Amino acid sequence: MSAAKPGTVYLVGAGPGDEGLLTLRAAELLASADVILHDQLIPVHALARARADAELIDVGKIGGGKQVPQELTEELIVEHALAGRSVVRLKGGDPFVFGRGGEEAITCIERGINVEVVPGVTSGIAAPAYAGIPVTQRSVAAAVAFVTGHENPNKPESQIDWSALASFPGTLVFYMGVKRLGQIAEKLITAGRPADQPVAVIERGTFASQREAVGTLETIAAIAEQQEIKAPAITVIGDVAALGNQMPWRQAARPLAGISVAVTRARAQASSLATELSALGAEVVEAPAIRIEPLSPSVPDLEQFDLLCITSPNGADQLFEAINDARDLAGMTIAAIGPGTARALLAHGIKADIVPERSIAEALVEALVDVPVERALIARAEEARDVLADALRERGAEVEILALYRTVAEPLDGESKAAALGADYATFTSASSARFFNDAAGTLEGPRLVSIGPVTSAQIRELGYEPAIEAEEHTPDGLVAALIADAAKR
Ligand code: SAH
Repeated sequence: MSAAKPGTVYLVGAGPGDEGLLTLRAAELLASADVILHDQLIPVHALARARADAELIDVGKIGGGKQVPQELTEELIVEHALAGRSVVRLKGGDPFVFGRGGEEAITCIERGINVEVVPGVTSGIAAPAYAGIPVTQRSVAAAVAFVTGHENPNKPESQIDWSALASFPGTLVFYMGVKRLGQIAEKLITAGRPADQPVAVIERGTFASQREAVGTLETIAAIAEQQEIKAPAITVIGDVAALGNQMPWRQAARPLAGISVAVTRARAQASSLATELSALGAEVVEAPAIRIEPLSPSVPDLEQFDLLCITSPNGADQLFEAINDARDLAGMTIAAIGPGTARALLAHGIKADIVPERSIAEALVEALVDVPVERALIARAEEARDVLADALRERGAEVEILALYRTVAEPLDGESKAAALGADYATFTSASSARFFNDAAGTLEGPRLVSIGPVTSAQIRELGYEPAIEAEEHTPDGLVAALIADAAKR
């Protein structure tokens, strides 16, 4: 594998929605391309991989209006490639399945441009799979047909051979808007497909917000309408469509499916919590109301200390920005405030000597009771509680504070604010995240508030709100576990 090459056009499938279904090759090309021309239906996580200086062109719509004409899209692709840029043409699902990728590839090759095709996971297979429906199954369906429900408007309507489809010995998978569902079902019944044949419609397949409607050819249009199923949707017609309720794998693997969670940590950190939550099926609303600002302090001579305490994962990262050589830490006992911070240290090659299970200053004080300390250095945020320093001083130790960073409020735009306050849950992994979020949003009213531990809970109460849940283990994993337990009860 290699990065995108200048003057080359890559026809890339972004997969159907779920980030985990993006191919490794697609991820590599997205991260290296100069230009990305993309459709409307592209999952946001795919575009988030683009280089900061890459040019992103939405060829789905012109200024929120009409679709960019195909000729113009092809002209843009060719123009950028001939100008020597690496071009990713990104499409939802697979680029060749009802994606016009074939036409674009041929145009490029005719113009002498190098082309690489990166197939994607197509929604016609993935959306049913996420609904527990295998498109083929031994003794149920031995064939599958992929059909577009969007007729090319330039062609007469008879392009689809309804009687052939009606007698097709296997599963029919329709890629289409739901508006034509009634019409299609009627045509198939008239042409001889049994009216009681099972049908499933899967909306936003593989996204956290996936929904399904199940019925028969006769009933599905009314059921889908009643459930307000909207595009994008895949329709599966055939006996396999009834297998979904025998295989509710997604509900078990995704305990947070259908639940929206606002994540209020700083952007860099939010990603790991957000990734974990979306892997569990949650729809994550990122509201980074807080940002880490490194202070780049000058580090005192470390040889004079016998204990170094690091009180947050950010602290661990910033510490290694501030020192020149990990060996400077060699002589000291190293204490991390909890497992998350210990992990961050480990990522820099340092295994902490002392790691309390609960990430809270009081627990660290307790863990240090039997450790002889003369001079301690506490590496931490500028604005932190003094519990640890006070306790060590009380024991007669000399304590110096190394303020490595400060957390600052990040204003939220109206849209993120509304999305976050409209979420089912909002997570707070520190007292400052609660404070900053409240500053940015003006309120904590709306979502169920999930607190990482007592200090954060106290802050939430001080702001006039009551946390719905407090994690038993004061780590992001503990917070996720508490959220899952609460969601299961509701
Ligand atoms: N190239 C795409 C399909 C493009 S045609 C692919 O391989 O998946 C667009 C149609 O695809 C939509 O109208 C809808 O029917 C279907 N579609 C795309 N993404 C979908 C999703 N996540 N869930 C359900 N249907 C989807």
